[in-house]
Amino acid sequence: MGTLARFSRRLHYTCKTFLSPLQAFLLAETRKEGVCFDVRASLSTTSRSYDTASGSDETGKQPNLSIIKTAETPLLKQLQARIKFSGPLTVYDYMKEGLINPLSGYYAAGQDMFGTKGDYVTSPEISQMFGEMVGVWIFNEWYKLGSLKPLQLVEFGPGRGTLMQDILRVLKQLGVKGRDLSIHFVEVSPELSQNQEERLCGSSQPYTETSDEGDFYKKNTTTGGTPVFWYRHLSSVPKRFSVFVAHEFFDVLPVHILRKTKDGWRELLVDVDEGDGPHHLRYVLSRTETPAAKLFVEPEETRDEVEVSPDGAVLCKDIAKRIEDNGGLALIMDYGHDGKLTDTFRAFKNHKQHHPLCEPGTADLTADVDFAYLKKQVQEDLITYGPVTQSFFLQNMGIEARLATLLKNSKPEEQKNLISAYKMLTDRHQMGERFKFLALFPGVVKNFLIKYPPAGFYRDFDE
Ligand code: SAH
Repeated sequence: MGTLARFSRRLHYTCKTFLSPLQAFLLAETRKEGVCFDVRASLSTTSRSYDTASGSDETGKQPNLSIIKTAETPLLKQLQARIKFSGPLTVYDYMKEGLINPLSGYYAAGQDMFGTKGDYVTSPEISQMFGEMVGVWIFNEWYKLGSLKPLQLVEFGPGRGTLMQDILRVLKQLGVKGRDLSIHFVEVSPELSQNQEERLCGSSQPYTETSDEGDFYKKNTTTGGTPVFWYRHLSSVPKRFSVFVAHEFFDVLPVHILRKTKDGWRELLVDVDEGDGPHHLRYVLSRTETPAAKLFVEPEETRDEVEVSPDGAVLCKDIAKRIEDNGGLALIMDYGHDGKLTDTFRAFKNHKQHHPLCEPGTADLTADVDFAYLKKQVQEDLITYGPVTQSFFLQNMGIEARLATLLKNSKPEEQKNLISAYKMLTDRHQMGERFKFLALFPGVVKNFLIKYPPAGFYRDFDE
């Protein structure tokens, strides 16, 4: 019997008996395991989504941060040579090189970019409550859809591995552990993959460039006995029923920036600046319509500038195909908008906004996720829920109940940090509103979802 048929049959048996997130979580609480807590980062740190975006030199939106030319980095030299040889780069190429160039891209450089000493802080790093709510959601939805074992958990860009660690703790409390599941990380950074491995497995293994077992570059086993695999791309991950998770991943996928002019759509490009500009690079506009401007601007577009992430679209379509063919579901969490914002491309360094063209390879580059665009890629085949705000999702998943339990078990000084962490995650002026959650389910479960919509995406209490 095919995976999807098996999955639909299991669904039939279990649809009446699933646990609500809160029931599941309370069940976990009765096992008295993992009621520890930590507030991972100093709460004075900055999330990447904070300030409004920077624009380009030529729009005049970007403040002139310096009058002396900024430092030359190894990546800058490569980019200058490339531009001199073949002309200005698209922002897409610039962003891609700046982030994942294997020798000198930001994610290849080997520094720890998260937390107080890094460049920014992410929700899983702020408090374990975040990952626990996601863990409860995964358990709940997987259980509803038939709880096929082993559960293949796929995470894109796992950072320090903190989110997965919290998810695994919740799943263990709910009885899903060891070989009941397998973990598949899609991660380009060798250093971060090592951090993830040390965190989950307690030690690290050498790279496996080729293996008969599959196309992973590294394999290990968690301290709880669950196999973990690392890949550079989703195409190498086994095609099975999977739960896909992406937190602050789509925002680092490169974007094209396209601008409406009186002569039609043009593309923002990066050129060398040999004049007296503050950086060694500057923005210019393409003289003619580039392939991206031809391909990616919708005829009904009303904005004067758009940022388009073709890699985000392709990834969403790939996930959708897997969900349709093999069964599964996905949770995409990121800061973003519903297709209305522009001018969100920006850089972060040392918890401050940084000019994106300054010292390439040394700062994180990001653009807000266009959730409307992502949804458009998949809505013919899949059922989508959201995007809802982080605050809405976490509140509906029972974060307040979790906070109350943690407060009960903590010392007064820890209580203060817990409350600050809770506020930072849920307050609409902090991370509560700008961060959004989007869920993807296979079309085959449409009627079932009408009856049992996914936890976290609907309000099941009165305000
Ligand atoms: N999810 C984590 C980390 C977010 S930072 C958190 O929220 O804390 C982005 C992560 O994506 C890093 O782990 C980075 O190494 C990885 N990454 C960036 N670009 C990638 C790409 N093109 N393919 C795979 N991983 C990538």
